[in-house]
Amino acid sequence: MARRKKIYEGKAKILYEGPEPGTIVQYFKDDATAFNAQKKDVIEGKGVLNNRLSEFFMQGLTQIGVPTHFIKRLNMREQLVRQCEIIPLEVIVRNYAAGTMSQRLGIDEGTQLPRPIVEYCYKDDSLGDPLVTEEHIAAFGWASQQDMEDILSLALRVNDFMSGVMMAVGIRLVDFKIEIGRVYDGDFQRLIIADEISPDSCRLWDIETGQKLDKDVFRRDLGSLTDAYTEVAKRLGVMPKTSTPITKPTLIN
Ligand code: 5GP
Repeated sequence: MARRKKIYEGKAKILYEGPEPGTIVQYFKDDATAFNAQKKDVIEGKGVLNNRLSEFFMQGLTQIGVPTHFIKRLNMREQLVRQCEIIPLEVIVRNYAAGTMSQRLGIDEGTQLPRPIVEYCYKDDSLGDPLVTEEHIAAFGWASQQDMEDILSLALRVNDFMSGVMMAVGIRLVDFKIEIGRVYDGDFQRLIIADEISPDSCRLWDIETGQKLDKDVFRRDLGSLTDAYTEVAKRLGVMPKTSTPITKPTLIN
């Protein structure tokens, strides 16, 4: 059997050439990184949970007419996605102040924002994904004016969908990051949601208790990341409420 071709390995995922032209297999690793990979660990079961959760969110978006790269889940850790040209931007939508916005502007974490705020960061690990303005994006040709209008509209639709889905299971969507891909259909190009949507790329807080159910658990050493992600998956019905843990049980003696 021929070995499949690895196209790219990132911090949390590996991309392989897909079975058909224009497709890619996206493999979710258990590796967790934070602070531009200065903090690293392997969290058993994280890749399985993110594969399932990203499938759930992408399928939901497709159902409401938001185009995504997701085609189908292949197995526990892999999904088949449409190949696209990634726009070199991290698109961040914030509903409540947290993380770098709180640090930058001195706003207490958890403060509700007057309206969703969309920010753009230039995707470059060596620079630490710096915040950029639409002026930079236009001047350096990373996206056109039409792209920016489409990106804003996609980001706000994802925000409305994700906020509603999470609210229904008692979770506040504080903020999230998405990546956008460009695909070509004949002479036309259009933009789709790419990469992943998972607790690795969102801030999710329990509405009642404020408990963090996202990657901040790892970034800030707040307990078990797998327990947090499993809680999100259970509430969404992505995993049965009584399912056995994804991590291997600890053997006593
Ligand atoms: P912040 O700018 O406060 O660090 O992040 C804002 C939101 O975007 C958070 O939900 C965070 O998880 C997500 N985010 C920002 N940068 C990245 C990144 O490089 N990778 C991932 N997975 N999420 C990110």
